[in-house]
Amino acid sequence: MALTLKHLFRKKVTTQYPEKKLETSRRIRGQQFVWRSDLCTACATCAKSCPHGIIRIATSKNGENKYAVDRIEFDIGRCMFCGLCVEACPYNALYMGRGYEQARYSRKLLWADMEVLMSPDSEPSAYGHTELEEKMPEQTLLVYGQISKKTADKNDS
Ligand code: SF4
Ligand code: SF4
Repeated sequence: MALTLKHLFRKKVTTQYPEKKLETSRRIRGQQFVWRSDLCTACATCAKSCPHGIIRIATSKNGENKYAVDRIEFDIGRCMFCGLCVEACPYNALYMGRGYEQARYSRKLLWADMEVLMSPDSEPSAYGHTELEEKMPEQTLLVYGQISKKTADKNDS
């Protein structure tokens, strides 16, 4: 009974999704990727490190000892979001995205091509890139039953 009463008067931690959303972890491995073409050297390390082999990359020679990416695609429908490709990229050109609402009616629509990977709408996660954390909003997911006052107030408004 004591436990029940404690939870009865606890500050609410739910929101009216999808109108209101909680802030996810800054290091979320979301259901998308962000690719920086300007940093990518076409080394294909990401594709080689993927346990599912779902990264397709095509490269061509672009000058002496240099390569360019002609095509890079991720089959998001088969991805387990382990993040190994992001961790393996030696040039910080690949990030997990923060988006998590990627439901589609067809598996074909889950392929992420270069246009999708470079979309300005996709926000990179700090997973594997902790230097991004400071600029990100504070997480509002439950941590030991607590929610920060600042974010709780924001959800109430
Ligand atoms: S997150 Fe894992 S499964 Fe998905 S593309 Fe990267 S290495 Fe492959
Ligand atoms: S590992 Fe990084 S630099 Fe190499 S091809 Fe993949 S995204 Fe580009």
